[in-house]
Amino acid sequence: MFDLDGTLVDSNAIDSQCYLQALVDVFGFDLNKIDRNWGNYPHITDAGILHTLCQTELGRDPTLGELYAYQQRFLELLIIAVSQKPLQSIAGASEILESLNADPHYAIAIATGAWKQTALFKLQQVGLDRIFIPMACSDDARARVDIMHCAYDRTLEFYRRSQFQTVTYIGDGVWDGIASKQLNYHFIGIGTGERVVDLFAVGAKCVLPNYQNLAEIMPVIFG
Ligand SMILES: [Mg+2]
Repeated sequence: MFDLDGTLVDSNAIDSQCYLQALVDVFGFDLNKIDRNWGNYPHITDAGILHTLCQTELGRDPTLGELYAYQQRFLELLIIAVSQKPLQSIAGASEILESLNADPHYAIAIATGAWKQTALFKLQQVGLDRIFIPMACSDDARARVDIMHCAYDRTLEFYRRSQFQTVTYIGDGVWDGIASKQLNYHFIGIGTGERVVDLFAVGAKCVLPNYQNLAEIMPVIFG
């Protein structure tokens, strides 16, 4: 089970920038007042952060109309940003998905904190939409563990199974490791630099910079 931003697509910077700009454009929030330390939010997902900000700034949840306008603006901004600086996948992402997809011992899924429409756009931009992968996203739930649960259920249905022997979540965020621990999933970190220590600290079995050298990393990830 893969996270998306920073795990399959190198999109964290552009995604945060467009996410925040859409908040300013639709809700009129003051960028300087927004806490960008996502670790301070109870749910580090697009839906979770929006909910917290609306509660803090407006004292209420967003209306359906605001949510729709917000998601549309976010997508528009992403389209503009990507037209200026194309997105890249994390190196080897396509190869590992294809390899797992071709192996009957594995089922693959995406559990992302992104909205469905921006998630699909990002996957499509880097050509990772060629394989159909069961997915759950921020449209399904605010909490990452609930999104992961939902992805698990969709994957059971898609592969016509009643259970899986083990589940491994692959993600680049500290919150991905914490959610994996809560669900008793194995956790593999994707990251470099200081992030490596943080990912090990939340239980990563290993931390990889990307998915290059598949033959070497497959036994490390799934061994
Ligand atoms: Mg991520």
